[in-house]
Amino acid sequence: MSILEAFDMMDYGPAPEDPAEALAWLDAHERRFNLFIAGEWRAPASESWFESMNPATGETLAHVASAGAADVDAAVAAARRAQPDWWALGCHGRARYLYALARQVQKHSRRLAVLDSLDNGKPIREMRDIDVPLVARHFYHHAGWAQLLAEEFPGHEPLGVAGQVIPWNFPLLMLAWKIAPALATGNTVVLKPAEFTPLTALAFAELCREVGLPAGVVNIVTGAGDTGAALVAHPDVDKVAFTGSTEVGREIRRATADSSKRLTLELGGKSPFIVFDDADLDSAVEGLVDGIWFNQGEVCCAGSRLLVHEPVAERLLGKLRRRMGTLRLGPPQDKAIDVGAVVAPVQLERIRSLVDQAVADGATCYQADTPLPEKGLFYPPTLLTDVGPASIAAQTEIFGPVLTVMTFRTPDEAVTLANNTPYGLAASVWSENINVALGLAPRLKAGVVWVNSTNRFDAACGFGGYRESGYGREGGREGLVEYLIPDWQRRLPALREPEQSLPSAAFGSAPGTGAPLGIDRTAKLYIGGRQTRPDGGNSVPVATADGQHLGEVPLGNRKDIRDAVEAAHKAEAWEHSDGHTRAQILYYVAENLAERGEEFAARLRHMTAADVANARREVETSVERIFAAAAWCDKHDGAVHDPPGRNLTVALQEPMGTIGIVCPECAPLLAFVSLALHAVAAGNRVVAIPSPRYPLIVTDFYQVLETSDVPPGVVNIVTGRPAELSPVLAGHADVAAIWYFGAPSGTVAVKSASVSNMKRVWTHEGRGIDWYDPRQGQGRELLRQATQVKNVWVPYGE
Ligand code: NDP
Repeated sequence: MSILEAFDMMDYGPAPEDPAEALAWLDAHERRFNLFIAGEWRAPASESWFESMNPATGETLAHVASAGAADVDAAVAAARRAQPDWWALGCHGRARYLYALARQVQKHSRRLAVLDSLDNGKPIREMRDIDVPLVARHFYHHAGWAQLLAEEFPGHEPLGVAGQVIPWNFPLLMLAWKIAPALATGNTVVLKPAEFTPLTALAFAELCREVGLPAGVVNIVTGAGDTGAALVAHPDVDKVAFTGSTEVGREIRRATADSSKRLTLELGGKSPFIVFDDADLDSAVEGLVDGIWFNQGEVCCAGSRLLVHEPVAERLLGKLRRRMGTLRLGPPQDKAIDVGAVVAPVQLERIRSLVDQAVADGATCYQADTPLPEKGLFYPPTLLTDVGPASIAAQTEIFGPVLTVMTFRTPDEAVTLANNTPYGLAASVWSENINVALGLAPRLKAGVVWVNSTNRFDAACGFGGYRESGYGREGGREGLVEYLIPDWQRRLPALREPEQSLPSAAFGSAPGTGAPLGIDRTAKLYIGGRQTRPDGGNSVPVATADGQHLGEVPLGNRKDIRDAVEAAHKAEAWEHSDGHTRAQILYYVAENLAERGEEFAARLRHMTAADVANARREVETSVERIFAAAAWCDKHDGAVHDPPGRNLTVALQEPMGTIGIVCPECAPLLAFVSLALHAVAAGNRVVAIPSPRYPLIVTDFYQVLETSDVPPGVVNIVTGRPAELSPVLAGHADVAAIWYFGAPSGTVAVKSASVSNMKRVWTHEGRGIDWYDPRQGQGRELLRQATQVKNVWVPYGE
């Protein structure tokens, strides 16, 4: 071909990356890898190895050890042994290792890029320009956190041993997201890479040896799902960090429910990509290429649902179809390739079958006339139109290069469609009007919102989901706290069953007989700002500390819980109220409680047998606690990050939504106001279940709420048997988080029920907290539990 002809065609020639260095590395290991435990390569106890395959060619790349329970046990034991010294090494010591790892990743960047490209089928260009630089950035950033840990997180300790399980779509990047924060915070790690893509984790193990990382600080156990299951179930693991499908996330939540392991879950998504009629459509098309065809669409936060403003829908789709015709599919190691191979036959089959089902349901399928390679696992970029919001194509995470399209007419409709998914990982909003874009961002249920951009990541900006996309964040300050524990939490006394109190609290004896106290008080449920009778029409007696009949409380049932959650749902405006308004209302609550302080103190005395001084102290501390909650209303601020690449990333502290609170018996007034009013201060609505022993102090409190301008539905109270009500609350799909401080025996049921919508569970695992201690009963830890970080990325510049 002449130069003139080449200019005329403007076609790409092949630009293959040389895989020699990566293949030589595999050869140097004789294409056979053992487990990396305690700084050594160890053969698996089972003596079994599985194949890791190149999906673009079908060739076997290496044989990799399959770890069984005994190997996992050895790895966890090695991590446990290494942990105290790793923590004792101190901030600077750990920072040096993380820095060395960052440098080592850079020094071997091409080998790592090629290995993941070979193993996963992803384009080398993406590995070279996106994944590997982000991996290095993650280790640099966390070297910094390691250095600053004592200064920035005083009074915090590592959790201990972290069991980490990662998926196959970003093998090395997911490893970095897991390992860097764990090491920076003084934890040690056992990591299980995905069965399809173990190679870069093994290469990373070698880097750990090269930098002289102490043995046992990082352990890599390769294997399939069983290996992951053995790791998360291991009794000596303190923290489980999982990235993968929502389905497996659910299994892990169940499998860890009977333990006190801390859990973070980064799960799937079905993220909306919203284009307004004033958007720069050509940029939006490039955004879509990146949003859904990056990494073959095997991206948790892929913009897989295009929601386009009706007036520009046809124009945008015309441009998009033309652009699809220019995408190049082919050998992943070709630097001019846009779309590589799908990771495995089973994934290819899943994509095909979901597209077939969508078409059978009435969707129209468009695929450009781009030739597919003859060999290997390839699927063409696909556009599905005529898709209904409830169809399989709009609801199911396909995890492939498939974009579904729906239109909207108004911003409200865009928000409704965008949120019409159980997931909540990410969203993109395209509009040249920054007011429109930033107006929409807080209304989208997603942990990340990209304005006029997509798939932006940085180590300083936490990443993670709302709703069934999981909980916890990776990256930034919010990612670090997931690996730390305040030191006082380690020293909490265990509660005895059925007692739920701290020894210091003065509680009375079992019910008996005694003189009546005067006029009987008729407590009711408090739902939607109204005192209501229970659905079941039954009440249960409540006794004083010395056994006299004090009153009766309604026996709430599951219907009452549902009504309370519905009332909370209707009070959504509270979520969008400003901090100043919320503070004013909470101060007013404190004022009204103070006004009736003597009455509440007398009530506490009758109920709990506290002496006068203690009862007054509880009321006074409660008033102070409400002041503290009010004070925080306008101070639990977010942050503005300045990540590389001309973006401002605004980290918003958003309320969870409706929080279910199961109250402890101890300090019944103080604990209730501490929990409920911090939740409310952060913009949440609350459904509270008082303790069965002292419910009347909480039902008395609704009179204070009623006189303090708290909008109906913001606080709801359902009395009854917590053992019956808590799992209902924990299982309700419209409850975003559950705070369980009830009887220790109820903890497992609550955690298990929380899988319904993968809600975040906060509990002290059957340990008693001292509600009088401000470190334990107020402030940042409560607010952290009451909020979730949403990062809104706003690009700037021409
Ligand atoms: P899976 O959930 O199938 O697997 C994830 C990991 O868990 C793998 O290592 C897997 O092992 C392991 N595993 C499987 N079963 C169990 C079990 N019972 N107990 C413990 N571990 C287990 O997800 P995929 O690998 O298919 O990854 C795709 C999913 O990951 C998508 O849903 C995607 O959205 C999500 N994802 C989420 C991200 C986020 O940040 N939110 C980022 C990236 C992906 P093996 O595969 O080796 O058998």
